[in-house]
Amino acid sequence: MKLCTIPDCGYPADAARGWCRTHYKRWNETGDPQAHIPVRRTMPAADRIEDFEFMLDTGETVPNAVRRMRCSAKTIIRAYQRLGKPIPTALFAIDRQREDVA
Ligand SMILES: [Zn+2]
Repeated sequence: MKLCTIPDCGYPADAARGWCRTHYKRWNETGDPQAHIPVRRTMPAADRIEDFEFMLDTGETVPNAVRRMRCSAKTIIRAYQRLGKPIPTALFAIDRQREDVA
């Protein structure tokens, strides 16, 4: 997989000109890819699940693993859905708890 040619971007070059979508969009809208402005990092679903499952594999409980991921249970559920992988049911319980509190 080719990566965006903007230094330190690290996103897949899935748009034209050898850039990622964000840099291409900036260039398209402003005439400048604005390489000096960092692209907001969102962890790809596969990486997120890999980290999460690694913690479970090493004996972490689901609630603790969610806490250590520093994202919501819902975000992890969405990552599972994006990958089409079976979702640990404990995640739904955490997601519901959080909604009750909020
Ligand atoms: Zn980029």
